[in-house]
Amino acid sequence: MSYVFAPAPVVTVPVVGSTDRFPVHRIYCVGRNYVEHAQEMGHTGREAPFFFLKPADAVLVVNGTETADLPYPGVTQDLHHEIELVVAIGKGGSNIAAADALAHVYGYAVGLDMTRRDLQAEAKKQGRPWCAAKGFELSAPISAITPAAQAGAVESAAIWLQVNGEDRQRSTVAKLIWNIAETIEHISKLWTLAPGDLIYTGTPAGVAAVVPGDTLYGGVDGVGTLSVKLSA
Ligand code: MN
Repeated sequence: MSYVFAPAPVVTVPVVGSTDRFPVHRIYCVGRNYVEHAQEMGHTGREAPFFFLKPADAVLVVNGTETADLPYPGVTQDLHHEIELVVAIGKGGSNIAAADALAHVYGYAVGLDMTRRDLQAEAKKQGRPWCAAKGFELSAPISAITPAAQAGAVESAAIWLQVNGEDRQRSTVAKLIWNIAETIEHISKLWTLAPGDLIYTGTPAGVAAVVPGDTLYGGVDGVGTLSVKLSA
């Protein structure tokens, strides 16, 4: 078979301790999944889970201890960081029960759900989709994936983000409103999960703006760290 033009390359993420790479299928994101973050965004933190997606090629792979360059995106004056635990799906399915969900997990990574907060606020006001606020290019920086068996106690791990060496976000994955298994259960009712799907599980409180020149350094203990520097 030939194509009318060369197909886009498969988006992949490195795997800790392996030369094999994880091919990305879809990127699901959970909204307002930590109570204090829901409250800082003006909500009670007691709602049913909801989701949005980013395109697979929104991924920005951050290898090991390198600091990746992240150009400041256009059409925003208020780019925010959201540090998140990312779940990498290795086995697909639909209507997955929470009790069976962790068997579908390949591994875990650290990610940033970069957000054009001004565009999101306008979209909320107008009742419009979040795509332009959330799904832009390079909006999903991600570390290498640590296979689940090699990860620490992810369900209770510390999650944190520093900007220019100072704490901005610090919490624990134990504070997720909908935990990893429950999140997989909910998503798999709405979509058929496939190997290669990534789930950005939500961010704790402390989201704020970053500007060109800022260095973001975040992590989930037992999973990994990532570092990006914003350029103009
Ligand atoms: Mn988020």
